[in-house]
Amino acid sequence: SSDRKARAKSPVFMTFDDIGGQERAKRELKEALDFIIRHEDIKKLGIRPLKGILLTGPPGTGKTLMAKAAAHYTNSVFMAASGSEFVEMYVGVGASRIRDLFKEARARAVKENKESAIVFIDEIDVIGGKREGGQQREYDQTLNQLLTEMDGIHTTESPRVLIMAATNRKEMLDSALLRPGRFDRHIEVDLPDKKGRLHILKIHAKNKPIAEDVDLEAVAKETFQFSGAQLESVMNEAAIYAMREQSETIKARHLSLAVDKVMLGEKTDRESTK
Ligand code: ATP
Repeated sequence: SSDRKARAKSPVFMTFDDIGGQERAKRELKEALDFIIRHEDIKKLGIRPLKGILLTGPPGTGKTLMAKAAAHYTNSVFMAASGSEFVEMYVGVGASRIRDLFKEARARAVKENKESAIVFIDEIDVIGGKREGGQQREYDQTLNQLLTEMDGIHTTESPRVLIMAATNRKEMLDSALLRPGRFDRHIEVDLPDKKGRLHILKIHAKNKPIAEDVDLEAVAKETFQFSGAQLESVMNEAAIYAMREQSETIKARHLSLAVDKVMLGEKTDRESTK
């Protein structure tokens, strides 16, 4: 799809420093990635290659950012797709799209002179959901193709391929995906705690004119259970309130209106889906 191509082409300049909070998740992910970078040692010790990393956690917590930062950290080509893109009317189309995705990742790595490629699949549960009662679905072939691609990855191969996937419904995944040699490394990306929220707010305040009366620590306290995406939204909405008032800086009042707006927006969203 053109959507996927657009995303694949957008430059990846995301580093772990651009991700607020998530200290444990970042550490675990880096540890896993170090295995990929130190592949000579891994080979010597006969360690099974790491093929798949699954990121789990609520929406908007930074799973996509993590995958992009992983690509930067390992100097890999980054290719992204979403599980929902593979749900097709015609049998076989999803499977050939998966095949193309991996082919393109390898081709790009060669072309860009990189030793590795990361293929990121968001909403993996859409194609990798549990298969119950032997029921056949049109996208089973897609899942089978993904498993085939994973099984075909070798440590000695160049470029090396790593698959990262994200879901907020881990319990829905088919056990075939979770077997050793597939997505056998799981990293939880939770809602940020207060310290994490402050860090995220600071990241998104960086390029904004913040007034002297603003206490980001107080905002972090007020935004209990907000995701990173919601905190980004708070900073953006606050800037819009400031603009409406033709204020040159973002003041505490704008931020507090923005917090209410994002909190209320979420509530009405939830109510309307009931
Ligand atoms: P989903 O499950 O809905 O796909 P996700 O976990 O992949 O969500 P991202 O797409 O990574 O979430 O995050 C969405 C946006 O929210 C980011 O582009 C960023 O602006 C902001 N954001 C989320 N988490 C963080 C974070 N930890 N630090 C800084 N910004 C964040």
